[in-house]
Amino acid sequence: MKVLFLDQSGELGGAELCLLDIVAQISCDPAGRDALESQVALLSAGPFQDRLTQANIDHVVLRERPPHPKDRAFFSRRLRELFSLCHCLGDLIQLARNSDLIYANTSKAMVMGAIAHLITGRPLVYHLHDILTPQHFLWLNRNLLVQLANSCATQVIANSHATQQAFIAAGGHMAKSQVIYNGFLPEQFRIEPAQQQALRQSLGGKLSDDETFTIGCFSRFAPWKGQHLLLESLAKLNDPQVRLLLVGDSLFGEEAYVLKLRKQVERLGLTEQVQFLGFRDDVPQLLALCDLLVHSPVAPEPFGRVIVEAMLGGKAIIAPAEGSSPELLRHGQTGWLIEPRSSESLALAIQTLKAEPELRLRMGQAAAQAAQQRFHLYQTNQAIFELLHHTLNPDLMVASPVTTGVP
Ligand code: UDP
Repeated sequence: MKVLFLDQSGELGGAELCLLDIVAQISCDPAGRDALESQVALLSAGPFQDRLTQANIDHVVLRERPPHPKDRAFFSRRLRELFSLCHCLGDLIQLARNSDLIYANTSKAMVMGAIAHLITGRPLVYHLHDILTPQHFLWLNRNLLVQLANSCATQVIANSHATQQAFIAAGGHMAKSQVIYNGFLPEQFRIEPAQQQALRQSLGGKLSDDETFTIGCFSRFAPWKGQHLLLESLAKLNDPQVRLLLVGDSLFGEEAYVLKLRKQVERLGLTEQVQFLGFRDDVPQLLALCDLLVHSPVAPEPFGRVIVEAMLGGKAIIAPAEGSSPELLRHGQTGWLIEPRSSESLALAIQTLKAEPELRLRMGQAAAQAAQQRFHLYQTNQAIFELLHHTLNPDLMVASPVTTGVP
């Protein structure tokens, strides 16, 4: 049985990293069921493609050809785009015909996947990584996705209860949806002190200073991820001992926001305290160098892999009390929840946790333990493979455990 995984992006966003972990294990199902075959189809090229190649995963890029640079006229550009889309769709339908199931991993992929489903009749599973609220989606797009999910998808995998609730509130069918969290390999977050020391030295600056209190923020750069709010809080805190590592980059055309952040750092006089590290492949190692993690999105987060990664790294993390965070973290025990969009509340939380090393240690240890139990990759993949087998053979008597539980 072959599953066609479809993703809109060639970039390394959370949805793509999650997909990579699923596809990498699909051919060796630990439950001993007949292994599923897989093929990944991307709607555009990028570093995700390289990761798939490195992991030996069969994939193909259905490149939407960019408009020809000389093609300035509006209609000819649109015509070219339309041609490219039809071309891409034709290839996709061919791939779908050679598969038994289509798995749409992102929103644009869902639109394309639904068309392929309607033409080929192959069952469609939608992995919903987005929170369908007005802060994230226009009414029209929200409605389109929900209607397509209701009418075309056999199953909708929501990456958190917050995502599932938003889907249902937007008109999605509850009976079709199941919550399965992203999964992780805890051992990847156990970093040897020697490795930490080498990395600390390579980063240089004040990081090697024992007096420094290092905050990490690991997120792609986008206005809704709220790096600007964290900078505002840092200015309010006015504590030169605090150092901030901003890890990530703009993945989906938000370069203007990165420039704005750099100017904000200068304007607020934070150049000595803030270090931009760009997109990194060594997140677990960098996490290990931090005293505290901050995740400060200004709109509800659908899941937030970075929250669970911080937990697995045994770090205290501050996150807003909305979106997925309240179901991932228990305030004061495995994390610290604050009023959303409030730089005062964030500054106060940083100040409080900086002054309480014992509390940070206790929270980090409890968080690591909770995360190992609730977000293990074997457990989450198990639920996904079971769902796929069940979709392919609806008569199979399997009831997959919903990945849930208290934070
Ligand atoms: N990440 C990374 N390198 C970076 C910044 C982030 O590999 O420089 C990873 C991070 O570890 C996490 C993912 O990107 O696994 C982001 O996922 P999340 O769900 O937090 O956010 P999304 O990008 O999906 O909105």
